[in-house]
Amino acid sequence: MVLEKNEKVGSNFKGDFQGLENGTSSKDILTLLNEINIRTDFAYEPFRECALYDRNLKKYTVKSKNAGFYLIRRGEMEGSLDLYLARIAEQTGVNIQFNYVGGLHNADIIATGANTPFLIAAGINFGTNIDKVALAIFDDLISPLGYAYLLGFHGRATIAVVSKATTKRLSKYLERAIDRFSKITSFQINDPVEFGGYGTCFKRVVGGIPLIGEAGGFQDAMWGFGLRMAFYTGFLAAKALSENLDYWSLVEKEVVPFCKTSIVNRLFYDLLRSKRYQHILSRISKADDPIVYVNKLYAPTCFKRLLFPLAKKLLSK
Ligand SMILES: Cc1cc2nc3c(=O)[nH]c(=O)nc-3n(C[C@H](O)[C@H](O)[C@H](O)COP(=O)(O)OP(=O)(O)OC[C@H]3O[C@@H](n4cnc5c(N)ncnc54)[C@H](O)[C@@H]3O)c2cc1C
Repeated sequence: MVLEKNEKVGSNFKGDFQGLENGTSSKDILTLLNEINIRTDFAYEPFRECALYDRNLKKYTVKSKNAGFYLIRRGEMEGSLDLYLARIAEQTGVNIQFNYVGGLHNADIIATGANTPFLIAAGINFGTNIDKVALAIFDDLISPLGYAYLLGFHGRATIAVVSKATTKRLSKYLERAIDRFSKITSFQINDPVEFGGYGTCFKRVVGGIPLIGEAGGFQDAMWGFGLRMAFYTGFLAAKALSENLDYWSLVEKEVVPFCKTSIVNRLFYDLLRSKRYQHILSRISKADDPIVYVNKLYAPTCFKRLLFPLAKKLLSK
Protein backbone atom coordinates (compact mmCIF):
# COMPACT_ATOMS: atom_id res chain seq x y z
CA MET A 1 0.00 0.00 0.00
CA VAL A 2 1.12 3.57 -0.79
CA LEU A 3 0.00 6.32 1.59
CA GLU A 4 -0.20 9.77 -0.03
CA LYS A 5 -1.06 12.94 1.87
CA ASN A 6 -2.59 14.72 -1.13
CA GLU A 7 -5.96 14.09 -2.73
CA LYS A 8 -4.41 13.08 -6.07
CA VAL A 9 -1.14 11.80 -7.42
CA GLY A 10 1.33 14.45 -8.66
CA SER A 11 -0.53 17.42 -7.19
CA ASN A 12 2.72 18.98 -5.89
CA PHE A 13 3.43 19.77 -9.55
CA LYS A 14 1.42 21.92 -11.95
CA GLY A 15 2.20 20.43 -15.35
CA ASP A 16 5.84 21.54 -15.27
CA PHE A 17 8.19 20.11 -17.85
CA GLN A 18 11.17 18.33 -16.29
CA GLY A 19 14.00 16.30 -17.74
CA LEU A 20 14.85 12.66 -17.15
CA GLU A 21 18.49 13.47 -17.61
CA ASN A 22 21.56 11.62 -18.85
CA GLY A 23 24.08 14.11 -17.44
CA THR A 24 24.63 12.73 -13.96
CA SER A 25 25.34 9.18 -15.16
CA SER A 26 26.67 7.55 -18.30
CA LYS A 27 23.84 5.01 -18.17
CA ASP A 28 20.88 6.15 -20.26
CA ILE A 29 17.95 6.73 -17.90
CA LEU A 30 15.54 4.63 -19.99
CA THR A 31 18.00 1.72 -19.86
CA LEU A 32 18.23 2.16 -16.11
CA LEU A 33 14.44 2.18 -15.75
CA ASN A 34 14.17 -1.02 -17.80
CA GLU A 35 16.87 -2.64 -15.66
CA ILE A 36 14.95 -1.82 -12.49
CA ASN A 37 11.71 -3.17 -13.97
CA ILE A 38 9.99 0.14 -14.68
CA ARG A 39 8.24 0.24 -18.03
CA THR A 40 9.12 3.18 -20.25
CA ASP A 41 6.04 3.53 -22.43
CA PHE A 42 5.14 6.84 -20.79
CA ALA A 43 5.02 10.12 -22.75
CA TYR A 44 8.48 11.59 -23.28
CA GLU A 45 10.40 13.51 -25.90
CA PRO A 46 14.15 13.03 -26.38
CA PHE A 47 16.28 16.21 -26.63
CA ARG A 48 19.65 15.90 -28.38
CA GLU A 49 20.19 19.63 -28.66
CA CYS A 50 19.82 22.60 -26.37
CA ALA A 51 21.23 26.13 -26.17
CA LEU A 52 22.97 27.55 -23.11
CA TYR A 53 23.56 31.28 -22.62
CA ASP A 54 25.95 33.21 -20.42
CA ARG A 55 25.16 36.54 -18.72
CA ASN A 56 25.88 38.43 -21.95
CA LEU A 57 23.46 36.14 -23.78
CA LYS A 58 26.31 34.57 -25.72
CA LYS A 59 25.03 31.27 -27.06
CA TYR A 60 26.68 27.87 -26.50
CA THR A 61 25.00 25.16 -28.55
CA VAL A 62 25.08 21.70 -27.05
CA LYS A 63 24.48 18.78 -29.41
CA SER A 64 24.89 15.16 -28.50
CA LYS A 65 24.60 11.83 -30.29
CA ASN A 66 22.34 10.37 -27.62
CA ALA A 67 19.57 12.20 -25.79
CA GLY A 68 20.84 14.66 -23.18
CA PHE A 69 17.47 14.31 -21.51
CA TYR A 70 13.93 13.09 -22.08
CA LEU A 71 11.30 15.76 -21.55
CA ILE A 72 8.42 14.64 -19.32
CA ARG A 73 5.53 16.41 -17.57
CA ARG A 74 4.90 16.41 -13.85
CA GLY A 75 1.50 16.76 -12.23
CA GLU A 76 -1.90 15.15 -11.92
CA MET A 77 -2.96 15.57 -15.59
CA GLU A 78 -3.15 13.00 -18.41
CA GLY A 79 0.30 12.50 -19.94
CA SER A 80 2.22 13.19 -16.73
CA LEU A 81 4.87 10.82 -15.44
CA ASP A 82 3.20 10.87 -12.02
CA LEU A 83 -0.17 9.64 -13.31
CA TYR A 84 1.53 7.00 -15.47
CA LEU A 85 3.46 5.60 -12.51
CA ALA A 86 0.38 5.59 -10.27
CA ARG A 87 -1.59 3.65 -12.92
CA ILE A 88 1.19 1.11 -13.39
CA ALA A 89 1.35 0.63 -9.62
CA GLU A 90 -2.43 0.15 -9.41
CA GLN A 91 -2.40 -2.31 -12.33
CA THR A 92 0.13 -4.41 -10.45
CA GLY A 93 -2.15 -4.51 -7.41
CA VAL A 94 -0.85 -1.59 -5.34
CA ASN A 95 -3.53 0.26 -3.40
CA ILE A 96 -2.92 4.01 -3.14
CA GLN A 97 -4.61 5.61 -0.15
CA PHE A 98 -4.99 9.36 -0.68
CA ASN A 99 -5.52 12.13 1.92
CA TYR A 100 -3.35 10.25 4.40
CA VAL A 101 -2.69 12.22 7.58
CA GLY A 102 -1.25 9.56 9.91
CA GLY A 103 2.30 8.97 11.09
CA LEU A 104 5.10 7.28 9.17
CA HIS A 105 6.68 5.20 11.94
CA ASN A 106 5.16 1.93 10.61
CA ALA A 107 6.22 2.55 7.00
CA ASP A 108 8.58 0.15 5.21
CA ILE A 109 9.90 2.94 2.97
CA ILE A 110 9.63 6.72 3.33
CA ALA A 111 9.40 8.75 0.10
CA THR A 112 8.01 12.06 1.33
CA GLY A 113 10.15 14.32 -0.87
CA ALA A 114 12.33 17.31 -0.01
CA ASN A 115 12.26 18.58 3.56
CA THR A 116 14.94 21.26 4.01
CA PRO A 117 15.34 23.73 1.14
CA PHE A 118 18.80 23.88 -0.41
CA LEU A 119 17.94 24.78 -4.02
CA ILE A 120 14.67 26.62 -4.65
CA ALA A 121 12.70 27.13 -7.84
CA ALA A 122 9.92 29.39 -9.09
CA GLY A 123 8.34 29.20 -12.49
CA ILE A 124 5.36 29.40 -14.80
CA ASN A 125 3.74 26.85 -17.08
CA PHE A 126 1.90 28.26 -20.07
CA GLY A 127 0.35 27.69 -23.45
CA THR A 128 2.51 28.98 -26.28
CA ASN A 129 3.37 28.87 -29.97
CA ILE A 130 6.67 27.02 -29.27
CA ASP A 131 7.06 23.65 -30.98
CA LYS A 132 10.24 22.30 -29.38
CA VAL A 133 12.92 24.18 -27.45
CA ALA A 134 15.34 23.80 -24.53
CA LEU A 135 17.25 26.92 -23.43
CA ALA A 136 19.08 27.80 -20.22
CA ILE A 137 20.66 31.04 -19.00
CA PHE A 138 23.45 31.08 -16.44
CA ASP A 139 23.50 34.53 -14.88
CA ASP A 140 23.44 35.41 -11.18
CA LEU A 141 21.33 38.49 -11.96
CA ILE A 142 18.40 36.28 -12.92
CA SER A 143 19.09 33.16 -10.85
CA PRO A 144 21.73 33.65 -8.13
CA LEU A 145 24.10 30.65 -8.04
CA GLY A 146 21.72 28.73 -10.27
CA TYR A 147 20.21 28.96 -13.72
CA ALA A 148 17.00 29.72 -15.56
CA TYR A 149 15.43 27.43 -18.14
CA LEU A 150 12.81 27.45 -20.85
CA LEU A 151 11.50 24.05 -21.92
CA GLY A 152 8.82 23.95 -24.60
CA PHE A 153 7.11 21.22 -26.55
CA HIS A 154 4.01 21.09 -28.76
CA GLY A 155 2.43 24.33 -27.59
CA ARG A 156 3.19 24.06 -23.86
CA ALA A 157 6.20 25.50 -22.03
CA THR A 158 7.82 25.99 -18.64
CA ILE A 159 10.08 28.85 -17.61
CA ALA A 160 11.72 28.57 -14.20
CA VAL A 161 14.57 29.97 -12.16
CA VAL A 162 16.59 27.75 -9.85
CA SER A 163 18.65 29.36 -7.13
CA LYS A 164 20.26 28.74 -3.77
CA ALA A 165 17.75 28.81 -0.90
CA THR A 166 19.46 31.93 0.48
CA THR A 167 17.89 33.97 -2.36
CA LYS A 168 14.98 36.19 -1.35
CA ARG A 169 12.01 37.10 -3.57
CA LEU A 170 12.53 34.56 -6.33
CA SER A 171 9.45 35.91 -8.18
CA LYS A 172 11.42 39.09 -8.97
CA TYR A 173 14.09 36.94 -10.64
CA LEU A 174 11.46 34.97 -12.52
CA GLU A 175 10.18 38.18 -14.14
CA ARG A 176 13.72 39.01 -15.22
CA ALA A 177 14.19 35.51 -16.62
CA ILE A 178 10.99 35.74 -18.69
CA ASP A 179 12.20 39.07 -20.04
CA ARG A 180 15.64 37.62 -20.91
CA PHE A 181 14.19 34.60 -22.69
CA SER A 182 11.97 36.90 -24.75
CA LYS A 183 15.14 38.65 -25.94
CA ILE A 184 16.51 35.31 -27.17
CA THR A 185 13.38 34.02 -28.86
CA SER A 186 9.89 35.35 -29.38
CA PHE A 187 7.03 33.33 -27.93
CA GLN A 188 3.53 33.80 -26.60
CA ILE A 189 2.59 33.30 -22.97
CA ASN A 190 -1.06 32.17 -22.68
CA ASP A 191 -2.79 31.36 -19.37
CA PRO A 192 0.35 31.20 -17.20
CA VAL A 193 0.14 29.11 -14.02
CA GLU A 194 2.74 29.77 -11.35
CA PHE A 195 4.57 27.05 -9.47
CA GLY A 196 7.42 26.74 -7.01
CA GLY A 197 9.38 24.06 -5.27
CA TYR A 198 12.63 23.16 -3.62
CA GLY A 199 15.20 20.42 -3.28
CA THR A 200 17.18 19.12 -0.34
CA CYS A 201 20.91 18.81 0.06
CA PHE A 202 22.39 15.40 0.85
CA LYS A 203 22.59 14.61 4.58
CA ARG A 204 24.17 11.34 5.44
CA VAL A 205 21.68 9.09 7.24
CA VAL A 206 22.61 5.55 8.18
CA GLY A 207 20.05 3.24 9.72
CA GLY A 208 16.33 3.41 10.34
CA ILE A 209 13.46 3.14 7.85
CA PRO A 210 14.80 3.47 4.28
CA LEU A 211 14.46 7.07 3.09
CA ILE A 212 14.38 7.22 -0.69
CA GLY A 213 14.57 10.06 -3.21
CA GLU A 214 14.64 13.53 -1.78
CA ALA A 215 13.42 12.35 1.64
CA GLY A 216 16.94 10.90 1.97
CA GLY A 217 18.50 14.02 0.45
CA PHE A 218 19.34 12.07 -2.71
CA GLN A 219 19.52 14.92 -5.16
CA ASP A 220 22.18 16.47 -7.34
CA ALA A 221 23.39 19.47 -5.34
CA MET A 222 24.80 21.29 -8.38
CA TRP A 223 21.81 21.61 -10.70
CA GLY A 224 19.01 20.00 -8.71
CA PHE A 225 18.37 16.79 -10.67
CA GLY A 226 16.62 14.24 -8.49
CA LEU A 227 14.49 11.92 -10.61
CA ARG A 228 17.20 9.39 -11.43
CA MET A 229 18.17 9.02 -7.78
CA ALA A 230 14.52 8.85 -6.67
CA PHE A 231 13.94 5.90 -9.02
CA TYR A 232 17.18 4.18 -8.15
CA THR A 233 16.99 4.54 -4.37
CA GLY A 234 13.38 3.28 -4.60
CA PHE A 235 14.67 0.22 -6.41
CA LEU A 236 17.41 -0.31 -3.81
CA ALA A 237 14.88 -0.07 -0.97
CA ALA A 238 12.64 -2.68 -2.65
CA LYS A 239 15.65 -4.92 -3.24
CA ALA A 240 16.74 -4.58 0.39
CA LEU A 241 13.26 -5.48 1.64
CA SER A 242 12.75 -8.45 -0.68
CA GLU A 243 16.26 -9.88 -0.30
CA ASN A 244 16.69 -9.00 3.37
CA LEU A 245 19.66 -6.71 2.68
CA ASP A 246 20.70 -3.53 4.45
CA TYR A 247 19.38 -0.58 2.42
CA TRP A 248 21.81 1.89 3.91
CA SER A 249 24.80 -0.24 2.92
CA LEU A 250 23.46 -0.43 -0.64
CA VAL A 251 23.03 3.35 -0.97
CA GLU A 252 26.36 3.99 0.72
CA LYS A 253 28.04 1.98 -2.03
CA GLU A 254 25.94 2.90 -5.05
CA VAL A 255 24.45 6.36 -4.52
CA VAL A 256 26.30 8.26 -1.78
CA PRO A 257 29.51 8.67 -3.87
CA PHE A 258 27.47 10.53 -6.54
CA CYS A 259 25.83 12.76 -3.91
CA LYS A 260 29.23 13.62 -2.46
CA THR A 261 30.61 14.44 -5.91
CA SER A 262 27.64 16.70 -6.63
CA ILE A 263 28.27 18.59 -3.39
CA VAL A 264 31.89 19.23 -4.38
CA ASN A 265 30.64 20.29 -7.84
CA ARG A 266 28.22 22.68 -6.12
CA LEU A 267 31.07 24.26 -4.17
CA PHE A 268 33.04 24.82 -7.40
CA TYR A 269 29.90 26.23 -9.03
CA ASP A 270 29.37 28.67 -6.15
CA LEU A 271 32.99 29.76 -6.42
CA LEU A 272 32.76 30.28 -10.20
CA ARG A 273 29.80 32.70 -10.07
CA SER A 274 28.31 33.98 -13.31
CA LYS A 275 31.40 35.93 -14.42
CA ARG A 276 33.06 32.61 -15.01
CA TYR A 277 30.16 30.28 -15.87
CA GLN A 278 31.07 30.94 -19.52
CA HIS A 279 34.23 28.81 -19.09
CA ILE A 280 32.24 25.75 -18.19
CA LEU A 281 29.56 26.47 -20.83
CA SER A 282 32.27 26.81 -23.47
CA ARG A 283 33.92 23.57 -22.43
CA ILE A 284 30.63 21.68 -22.49
CA SER A 285 29.64 23.01 -25.93
CA LYS A 286 33.09 22.37 -27.44
CA ALA A 287 33.39 18.83 -26.09
CA ASP A 288 33.33 16.02 -28.67
CA ASP A 289 30.31 14.70 -26.83
CA PRO A 290 28.90 17.21 -24.29
CA ILE A 291 26.98 14.51 -22.42
CA VAL A 292 30.13 12.44 -21.93
CA TYR A 293 31.86 15.64 -20.70
CA VAL A 294 29.10 16.28 -18.13
CA ASN A 295 29.14 12.59 -17.10
CA LYS A 296 32.82 13.06 -16.23
CA LEU A 297 32.00 16.08 -14.03
CA TYR A 298 29.60 13.90 -12.06
CA ALA A 299 31.80 10.82 -11.86
CA PRO A 300 33.16 10.22 -8.34
CA THR A 301 36.94 10.69 -8.15
CA CYS A 302 39.45 10.32 -5.33
CA PHE A 303 40.09 14.10 -5.43
CA LYS A 304 36.41 14.96 -5.00
CA ARG A 305 35.98 12.33 -2.29
CA LEU A 306 38.79 13.95 -0.30
CA LEU A 307 37.32 17.40 -0.85
CA PHE A 308 33.81 16.38 0.24
CA PRO A 309 34.11 17.10 4.01
CA LEU A 310 35.40 20.61 3.32
CA ALA A 311 32.75 21.27 0.66
CA LYS A 312 30.00 20.03 3.01
CA LYS A 313 31.27 22.26 5.81
CA LEU A 314 31.54 25.35 3.63
CA LEU A 315 28.10 24.81 2.09
CA SER A 316 26.49 24.31 5.52
CA LYS A 317 27.51 27.80 6.63
C1 LIG B 1 10.83 23.12 -10.11
C2 LIG B 1 11.54 21.81 -10.07
C3 LIG B 1 12.10 21.32 -11.25
C4 LIG B 1 12.77 20.09 -11.22
N1 LIG B 1 13.30 19.62 -12.39
C5 LIG B 1 13.93 18.42 -12.39
C6 LIG B 1 14.43 17.88 -13.60
O1 LIG B 1 14.30 18.46 -14.68
N2 LIG B 1 15.07 16.67 -13.53
C7 LIG B 1 15.23 15.99 -12.37
O2 LIG B 1 15.83 14.90 -12.38
N3 LIG B 1 14.74 16.48 -11.20
C8 LIG B 1 14.09 17.68 -11.20
N4 LIG B 1 13.57 18.16 -10.03
C9 LIG B 1 13.69 17.34 -8.82
C10 LIG B 1 12.61 16.23 -8.83
O3 LIG B 1 11.34 16.80 -9.00
C11 LIG B 1 12.66 15.51 -7.48
O4 LIG B 1 13.98 15.14 -7.20
C12 LIG B 1 11.80 14.26 -7.48
O5 LIG B 1 10.44 14.56 -7.74
C13 LIG B 1 11.92 13.61 -6.09
O6 LIG B 1 11.03 12.55 -6.02
P1 LIG B 1 10.53 12.04 -4.60
O7 LIG B 1 9.68 10.87 -4.90
O8 LIG B 1 11.69 11.89 -3.69
O9 LIG B 1 9.67 13.24 -3.99
P2 LIG B 1 8.36 13.96 -4.57
O10 LIG B 1 8.28 13.87 -6.04
O11 LIG B 1 8.38 15.30 -3.93
O12 LIG B 1 7.16 13.10 -3.96
C14 LIG B 1 6.93 13.06 -2.57
C15 LIG B 1 5.48 12.60 -2.35
O13 LIG B 1 5.28 12.32 -0.96
C16 LIG B 1 4.05 12.92 -0.55
N5 LIG B 1 4.15 13.18 0.89
C17 LIG B 1 4.92 14.12 1.51
N6 LIG B 1 4.79 14.03 2.85
C18 LIG B 1 3.93 13.00 3.10
C19 LIG B 1 3.40 12.41 4.28
N7 LIG B 1 3.76 12.85 5.49
N8 LIG B 1 2.53 11.38 4.17
C20 LIG B 1 2.18 10.91 2.94
N9 LIG B 1 2.64 11.44 1.77
C21 LIG B 1 3.51 12.47 1.84
C22 LIG B 1 3.95 14.17 -1.41
O14 LIG B 1 2.63 14.66 -1.48
C23 LIG B 1 4.47 13.66 -2.76
O15 LIG B 1 3.46 13.07 -3.52
C24 LIG B 1 12.90 19.37 -10.01
C25 LIG B 1 12.33 19.87 -8.84
C26 LIG B 1 11.65 21.06 -8.86
C27 LIG B 1 11.03 21.57 -7.60
